[in-house]
Amino acid sequence: MTSLQDLSVVITGASSGIGDATARLLAKEGARVVLAARRADRLEALKADIEASGGTALVVETDVTDRAQCEALIQAAMDAYGRIDVLINNAGVMPLSLAESVRMEEWMQMVDVNINGVLYCTGAAIPHMISQEAGHIVNVSSVAGRRLFFGGSVYCATKHAITAFSEGLRMELGPRHGIRVTCIEPGAVSTELFQAIEDPAFKEAAPEFKATPIAPEDIAESIRYAVSAPSGATVAEVLVMPTDQV
Ligand code: NDP
Repeated sequence: MTSLQDLSVVITGASSGIGDATARLLAKEGARVVLAARRADRLEALKADIEASGGTALVVETDVTDRAQCEALIQAAMDAYGRIDVLINNAGVMPLSLAESVRMEEWMQMVDVNINGVLYCTGAAIPHMISQEAGHIVNVSSVAGRRLFFGGSVYCATKHAITAFSEGLRMELGPRHGIRVTCIEPGAVSTELFQAIEDPAFKEAAPEFKATPIAPEDIAESIRYAVSAPSGATVAEVLVMPTDQV
């Protein structure tokens, strides 16, 4: 097993949901976590909680749609902890809508956060991980990276991109540089993600969703499992579904 003690772990989207739960769990296991998102007040509150429990955390206010801010995030982690053992690309948005509504700004926001943000952070981290001859990139994709659902044409496209990018990274970075890559694919999770859905046409036409969302802590456990695997073992892909989700 890989011990999490003193690992330097960067987590995007740490201000709520899965990112928040993952930061708390990994910090409890001894990791030094770098908390990134736009809402700095939430990150500061999380850092205070982690430190009150004896953990170590750093806040770096970051908008992942801005390449320079992603590069500054990775540099801040290097400056603080001297290395980056794990990058968790978790930040994401899901304003579902009908294609016929052509909500172009939301489409572009999903591309910018869900795809470009992952590319910016990963691109900034790779040279450091190559120098270290070790590292672990964890991408939070989705079941939407494996299948399509109503109202999710663009969201599912962004998550298919992340699932593909993860496998491509794994095939190259593992054998050539000893860097592990994991793609996490949650089904429905109880977070703020759904609050961004505004398209009235989607709300009217969407079929009833019957599954019982699982907790963000359940996904954090999957991330911990992947990160703590022995260094020679890569957990390449984890699909975690509510038991009653079709
Ligand atoms: P939340 O809405 O709770 O968290 C989303 C996080 O992304 C927040 O911390 C938010 O922080 C951050 N974020 C959004 N935009 C930006 C940005 N421009 N720059 C930096 N951070 C940003 O949702 P979840 O915890 O559910 O989502 C986490 C990941 O899990 C996402 O990638 C999502 O697609 C994926 N997922 C979620 C599922 C679910 O059912 N909840 C299912 C499958 C996958 P802030 O607003 O402060 O910037």
